[in-house]
Amino acid sequence: MAERLKKKILETDKMVDLVAGPDSYRSLPQLLAVTETGQSAVNVLLSLDETYADVMPVRINSDSPSAYISIMRGCENMCSFCIVPFTRGRERSRPTDSILQEVKMLSDQGVKEVTLLGQNVNSYRDLSQTTVPVSFSTDTRLSRGFSTIYRTRQGGRRFADLMDKVSLVDPEMRIRFTSPHPKDFPDELLYLIRERANVCNLVHMPAQSGNTEVLKRMRRGYTRESYLELVENIWSIIPDVSLSSDFIAGFCGETDEEHRDTISLLDTVKFDMAYMFAYSMRKKTHAHHAMQDDVLEEVKKRRLQEIIDTFYSHVGERNRRLVGSHQLVLVEGTSKRSEEEVAGRTDGNVKVIFPGSMTEPLTQSSTTFRPGDYVIVKITEARDGSVRLRGVPVRLSSILDFSRNQISDSDQPTNHKSLSNSTS
Ligand code: SF4
Repeated sequence: MAERLKKKILETDKMVDLVAGPDSYRSLPQLLAVTETGQSAVNVLLSLDETYADVMPVRINSDSPSAYISIMRGCENMCSFCIVPFTRGRERSRPTDSILQEVKMLSDQGVKEVTLLGQNVNSYRDLSQTTVPVSFSTDTRLSRGFSTIYRTRQGGRRFADLMDKVSLVDPEMRIRFTSPHPKDFPDELLYLIRERANVCNLVHMPAQSGNTEVLKRMRRGYTRESYLELVENIWSIIPDVSLSSDFIAGFCGETDEEHRDTISLLDTVKFDMAYMFAYSMRKKTHAHHAMQDDVLEEVKKRRLQEIIDTFYSHVGERNRRLVGSHQLVLVEGTSKRSEEEVAGRTDGNVKVIFPGSMTEPLTQSSTTFRPGDYVIVKITEARDGSVRLRGVPVRLSSILDFSRNQISDSDQPTNHKSLSNSTS
């Protein structure tokens, strides 16, 4: 925003005398000194190496059991619809040691869940580590139907290695990550997600479209087939995985037939969560220079609604399969609708509402659940068109306790299915 509106807010609106982009925080003292002379100051340059490694964020809501850690910035994928490469600059990763220090600090503060953040998070590569750890191969999906338009960096510590280290800091801390790109899901990362109890079995795989021609115009670097092959691979390695995705309706030149491929992708995969948008052209992007935003607004809206309806038609079915199962829920706080209830999330990031206290049947002792508690909850209700579940608490637990002593449910859900049996 600072980069885009600098002229307007400085010269036209005369609202401020200093415009500082995100990467200029180190030069704030000099910039402020300039403003003290009566001049205005601007620094919106994007850095090639700024990773904010030395900035330990202050947690505003210190009661929250969750926190976010920025591990890399920027992106060079240059998807044709996306402004990120122009507003966040080149891809650069924060040194592993600095990330581990922050994870440890958050663990010491009682945080129970961290989400590793980056514009292209699984493309993480700590180049300050010159030797590739022997524990992981250099496999990416680039040889398996995925491509990039930039040269992949070589050497250094990669995302799977980082996840390995982060997950060992505190086995009682859940680890999530967002937002990844499908090209960077080597098998070792999938095995790590499966094997570490505290790495959540939730994989976000932004598809954007289910049609290969549209994906080509979007410059996503994969086809419908390679995407579905990756989904199949994930299902085979992590049977109880939850999948989420992003979709754009009405990208440049999208025909009704191409749109129907997106609907069929949703029907095939049956995502647990999806972020769905109508395409909106951004200046500076490749699409802005080279394509026409030629899908009518009402057509975009209709297609978006169809995508949303298709997603919700499967969510009920996905959530119903959880009814009767026992889930480990991390309590986030009191439910918005009732003081008597609490809200929390499963490992797969599904929201669950359940009574905020319980009486132990044997001892008759009463337990009140607080933010940060892990509670085993028996799921009792899933409603159509809702991403929320309801349940009853069974007992307080922990990640290790739950993973060692999984309550056996005759109807324990499995997501594992084969595309050959799907409706696509
Ligand atoms: S959509 Fe994601 S991967 Fe593509 S350019 Fe934007 S940030 Fe990068």
